[in-house]
Amino acid sequence: MKSKCLIKKDDKVKIVAGKETGKIGKVLKVNRKKERILIENINIIKRHTRPSAKNKQGGIVESEAPIHWSNAMLMCNKCMKPVRIKLQRLEDGKKKRVCRKCNELIDA
Ligand SMILES: [Zn+2]
Repeated sequence: MKSKCLIKKDDKVKIVAGKETGKIGKVLKVNRKKERILIENINIIKRHTRPSAKNKQGGIVESEAPIHWSNAMLMCNKCMKPVRIKLQRLEDGKKKRVCRKCNELIDA
């Protein structure tokens, strides 16, 4: 079964697999088709760029590379650690993300 990604832009996530395990970062971008997320200061790669009109010399640019979302877990602000999330329907019909441990709303 394919798991659904409950991570959104601007979420705080902790890396739980790979070489960046244990680091915490803010989600910059979510690519639902490719199942990848881009996280601030995580998985930095060096890109060699060709000279262009903007950057006449070209050179090496450091930037984040997306990782698979299964390698990151959402942080609960109350538990202060990465937690599993469930969707809960509120009285007004809206679905909100809730921490499975403490039932705290993740979405403000
Ligand atoms: Zn919690």
